[in-house]
Amino acid sequence: MPPENLLGKEEGQGFVQLMQQLPQERLALAIGAVAAMERAVKLTVEYTKERKAFGKPLMDFQNTAFTLAERKTEAMIARVFVDWCIERLVAGDLDTVTASMAKYWCSDKQVQTADECLQLFGGYGYMQEYPISRIFIDSRIQKIYGGTNEIMKLLIARSL
Ligand SMILES: Cc1cc2nc3c(=O)[nH]c(=O)nc-3n(C[C@H](O)[C@H](O)[C@H](O)COP(=O)(O)OP(=O)(O)OC[C@H]3O[C@@H](n4cnc5c(N)ncnc54)[C@H](O)[C@@H]3O)c2cc1C
Repeated sequence: MPPENLLGKEEGQGFVQLMQQLPQERLALAIGAVAAMERAVKLTVEYTKERKAFGKPLMDFQNTAFTLAERKTEAMIARVFVDWCIERLVAGDLDTVTASMAKYWCSDKQVQTADECLQLFGGYGYMQEYPISRIFIDSRIQKIYGGTNEIMKLLIARSL
């Protein structure tokens, strides 16, 4: 391979370079998780205000309102944490442990949010014509790629 095609400054440093970029990759997954959570909550609020069961909108049932209040709160917490991580990344000091926390926690919350929001769509939530179904399907891989969430917890635990 011609030397001008070398990626980075020094030959043989590919693995080191890859490792250095992992916090950024993990943060990118966390950002995607936050966006998916926010969209799931928005779609579900719209749907539950419109869909009626037993003569009233689903949103008027306390279980629906409380579920969505919890999911919206967690989406907000995730956004604030992720925004803070972005600031650290831009400043050049996003460390592996913090990025692992963002990846693991936000993707866990993404899966929970997608699952609980889908539940509020009832049977329609299982149909791929409804975007919440796609949000649910796409959420599951987030706990696996980019380093599984178990590995994220190992990395966090090592720093304790
Ligand atoms: C759609 C998709 C896209 C992907 N994209 C990329 C990509 O772009 N680049 C890339 O490099 N890789 C990519 N991957 C690979 C992905 O990162 C791996 O699948 C992931 O890291 C898990 O590795 P594994 O599949 O070998 O599972 P395994 O390592 O076999 O893990 C299986 C299970 O055992 C657990 N486990 C393993 N080791 C431990 C341990 N020490 N302690 C506790 N539990 C443990 C895991 O958490 C998991 O639950 C992608 C995978 C998928 C499915």
